[in-house]
Amino acid sequence: MTAPEPARYHAEYAWLPDRPAPDADVLIEVVDGRFGPVTAGVPVPPPDARRLPGLTLPGLANAHSHAFHRALRGRTHGGRGDFWAWRTQMYAVADRLDPERYLALARATYAEMALAGITCVGEFHYLHHAPDGAPYADPNVMGAALVEAAAQAGIRLTLLDTCYLTATVDGKPLAGPQLRFGDGDAAGWARRAGAFTPAGAHARVGAAIHSVRAVPADQLAEVAGWAREHAAPLHLHLSEQPAENEACLAYHGKSPTALLAEAGVLGPATTAVHATQLSGLDLDVLGSSGTGICACPTTERDLADGVGPIRKLADGGSPISLGTDSHAVVDLFEEARAVELNLRLATLTRGQFSPVELLRAATEGGHATLGWTDAGRLERGDRADLVTVRLDSARTAGVPPVGVFFAAGAADVTDVLADGRPVVREGRHVRLDVPTELSAAIAAVTS
Ligand SMILES: [Zn+2]
Repeated sequence: MTAPEPARYHAEYAWLPDRPAPDADVLIEVVDGRFGPVTAGVPVPPPDARRLPGLTLPGLANAHSHAFHRALRGRTHGGRGDFWAWRTQMYAVADRLDPERYLALARATYAEMALAGITCVGEFHYLHHAPDGAPYADPNVMGAALVEAAAQAGIRLTLLDTCYLTATVDGKPLAGPQLRFGDGDAAGWARRAGAFTPAGAHARVGAAIHSVRAVPADQLAEVAGWAREHAAPLHLHLSEQPAENEACLAYHGKSPTALLAEAGVLGPATTAVHATQLSGLDLDVLGSSGTGICACPTTERDLADGVGPIRKLADGGSPISLGTDSHAVVDLFEEARAVELNLRLATLTRGQFSPVELLRAATEGGHATLGWTDAGRLERGDRADLVTVRLDSARTAGVPPVGVFFAAGAADVTDVLADGRPVVREGRHVRLDVPTELSAAIAAVTS
């Protein structure tokens, strides 16, 4: 990547921290990849300032991604397939990935994210080894491919290196396409994950527990301890499907949330993804521990997971972030409004989340859960990530700027800056032909 140049931008509207609605005529200065002064109410911009018509937001954060799932979009709806049938198709794609194909598919997927205004992604990564389960010569070559993919797409990445050891809650061994996910035990996972240093300042490493299906109870504490020792974010899939809860209750006599709490896994540095199927007791445990929740409502609706109690979790003390997960849709505007609109359907009540809460979930909440606590706010000193959304498209014309999360879509993004570097200009990626790259990378793993 080239070094970021000092620059000034003049936003028609920009949403500044702790403001209930966007301000007009905001001059934004960028120095060394960080925001300098950000000043609202500057009607006449300096002549060197680049105009940003529309609404400028902090860069969006996609807190939960499996890049290779992008290859499944539009392919999994035959035969009324449920979550488990979908998973079989997902494994077929996983089986065809090698480091080169993984790099190409992830680069194209991350570039699609950049076009949607996403400046940072959390990749929940468990495709560690060759299809037969043998480590590659470099046992972290697949993770390195993801780090390189993000660099080429122009966004930051937190590689959530995922521990995945068993096929079922009662400890059945991995088999078939799952073999490449496994490191034997948590100590083996920690050795491999600990040996990896990502190339580039755009990437950092976090930890993940795939789920209570995939990490036995006696191995959970080791992964959590590794995350604490490395001051790394820890993510996990939690209670996405009723079957997972039922299996956990049958084998352990408690819910996944209770099992994780007992193992010391929960807390403010931990993010539970989905949390769609929770009991009242689970809600209390998650909220009181300050465990974050990453909602992925477009995936949850695609997979018929259900609607999680996100409002109750937020009220209980859990910070909220958003993820596009399986990439059935890559659009954080849609993701944000789906949080609100799904809850309306489930509760018969409107107005669950304010526009500012949705903004925070899509921006600073997501960056923080990925370990980038200096991103997601348009303020001096923060990483210079911004995304500009046009307010003159057929979707957004006449919409007040404060209503952007109820009107705009990824196609309305015109300009994206990540760490001060232009990534998208006038709706086009500055380096990559994204549709062509997506078509080629998906054909390589599906045809
Ligand atoms: Zn996931």
